[in-house]
Amino acid sequence: MAAQLLNGLEVAQRIKESVAARVGEMVRARIKPGLAAVLVGDNPASKLYVNSKVKSCQDLGLHSEIYQLSANTTTDQLLSLIKDLNQRNEIDGILVQLPLPPQIETRTIIEAVDPAKDVDGFNPVNVGRLVRGEESLVACTPLGIIELLDAYQIPIAGAQAVVIGRSDIVGKPMALLLLHRHATVTISHSRTRDLAAIARQADILIAALGRAGMITGEYVREGAVVIDVGMNKLTTEEEIDRILPRSEHAKRLEDLRKRGYTLVGDVEPRSVLGRASWLTPVPGGVGPLTIAMLMKNTLRAAELRRGMKAEG
Ligand code: NDP
Repeated sequence: MAAQLLNGLEVAQRIKESVAARVGEMVRARIKPGLAAVLVGDNPASKLYVNSKVKSCQDLGLHSEIYQLSANTTTDQLLSLIKDLNQRNEIDGILVQLPLPPQIETRTIIEAVDPAKDVDGFNPVNVGRLVRGEESLVACTPLGIIELLDAYQIPIAGAQAVVIGRSDIVGKPMALLLLHRHATVTISHSRTRDLAAIARQADILIAALGRAGMITGEYVREGAVVIDVGMNKLTTEEEIDRILPRSEHAKRLEDLRKRGYTLVGDVEPRSVLGRASWLTPVPGGVGPLTIAMLMKNTLRAAELRRGMKAEG
């Protein structure tokens, strides 16, 4: 039986609608939650991400500001901007787009963001709270994946979950969120022995490794739920043939012609669709949820800072 697709776009849309409704209520009470996005240098992918985040803010009625700094900005210059944003009452969320240029001490910057405004959930105070299962702002991508599983009523408690990848922004917080929801969690990485055998134990398999199409059917237990976090660019017809089912080829070749690449995940849908029960598509799966959760985190930060009851 072919896997069904988990529609991240649809779930993200619903989350955004509920954020917009709540923002509307707050604006009527003369509070306009605000996000400041900080971009250093001119990495085209980062620019694209920041612009789409700010556009989402505008669509949902949130206040937003973009700070575009030159590629040779120093740690001290960036720190002084962060300190200023920490102090401004109309800013509820601060997002520093990563990666930062090499001369900037990323850790120092992440630690400087006020934990109450840390809508990316990267500050060690929020990470510590997440580890302890306390109220905190949590990284958007893993948070969005939990929302997606919940939206499709996929049971987490008691499930065997395998997370492939142990980064601070996806793998580790993902594993913790699943653990707090009572899954039995295995975290795997590039040094894991016999990854396929470990992955095959999963009822819920989260692929967040950044390797185009590496997770083939061999890694997937019959009937597993597979969440594909990866975002990789394919640039050749051969790769498209190898990774994607025939039904997608025409559309993907069109992408290649128009943009020079097509986006795929870490999962190989060609072989996984026949084994999984559910699979997130790329694009249209986890990606849209990340932005929706950033909006929700900004709203949540605004509510928490004002001592209002934050939803979920
Ligand atoms: P990182 O590069 O920071 O981490 C990758 C992790 O995967 C590491 O822990 C690494 O192991 C592990 N890994 C790499 N190769 C293998 C392998 N062959 N076998 C097993 N494990 C492996 O990436 P991120 O966590 O930041 O992102 C992962 C993917 O998710 C990327 O494709 C990224 O673009 C995408 N992404 C998508 C988002 C979205 O909104 N959809 C948001 C964020 C990321 P080790 O620690 O041993 O090196």
